[in-house]
Amino acid sequence: KMRSRHVFKSFGATPVLRDVSAEVRDGEIVALIGPSGAGKSTFLRCVNNLEVIDSGRIEVDGELVGYREAGGFLEPLPEREASRQRARIGMVFQHFNLFRHMTALQNVAYGPRQVLGTPKAEAARQAAELLERMGLAGREHHYPRQLSGGQQQRVAIARALAMDPSMILLDEPTSALDPELRVEVAGVIRDLAGQRCTMLMATHDIPLVEDIADRVVFMVDGGVVEQGPAERVLTSPEHERTRAFLARMS
Ligand code: ATP
Ligand code: MG
Repeated sequence: KMRSRHVFKSFGATPVLRDVSAEVRDGEIVALIGPSGAGKSTFLRCVNNLEVIDSGRIEVDGELVGYREAGGFLEPLPEREASRQRARIGMVFQHFNLFRHMTALQNVAYGPRQVLGTPKAEAARQAAELLERMGLAGREHHYPRQLSGGQQQRVAIARALAMDPSMILLDEPTSALDPELRVEVAGVIRDLAGQRCTMLMATHDIPLVEDIADRVVFMVDGGVVEQGPAERVLTSPEHERTRAFLARMS
């Protein structure tokens, strides 16, 4: 589904991703963990083509992200193509990023209408169905400010799903939330995991990782320290740094 090879990315003179190779297979839930500043969000942004990598390659569904082959060289994708790629991947951010002047239903229906050209009534029907699936029946016509943080995050997840994405990237989906709200959002993510929705999730929420991740990628300072089956990485990490990190998080 997603495969990255030797990805490097700097902001100015600061290297932020150093040789990141990772994979997410179809139906797999992969957790990206590591200390603040490790480059988790940056990596997600690269996978979603919100940042352009300096070298290496990222493929989603076998297609190169951000670049195209032209006469033996790689050239950055034109914006039209780049946004087409972005539309195929759902992204959920820490701070929800809902359109504040739109209701929950309008937020969810917006992408399908604008990007996929879904007719209004059909987009609304799908949006209502997704909101119901997220446990938000009856909240369709609420504006973000009329919803709790957990509800807003579930609208954001519904909005990502509305595009029928090939995979979903979640960047700390539970970390802006109080413990109770965290539980409800974690529940929704767990349901998606149960439906084998392919996910790559950056998070500090180790209990959630234990609960749903198939594989774990542990990053420090832009590099992957270790990765492997969740069970193994979490219970018997190979590297001292992983051990120290997990000990600090528990
Ligand atoms: P956290 O757990 O705190 O969310 P993270 O692992 O997601 O951390 P990133 O946000 O990817 O880390 O940041 C990695 C490094 O890249 C940090 O040192 C950060 O300051 C730097 N960085 C991120 N975005 C930019 C940017 N647009 N310009 C310059 N530096 C950036
Ligand atoms: Mg981050």
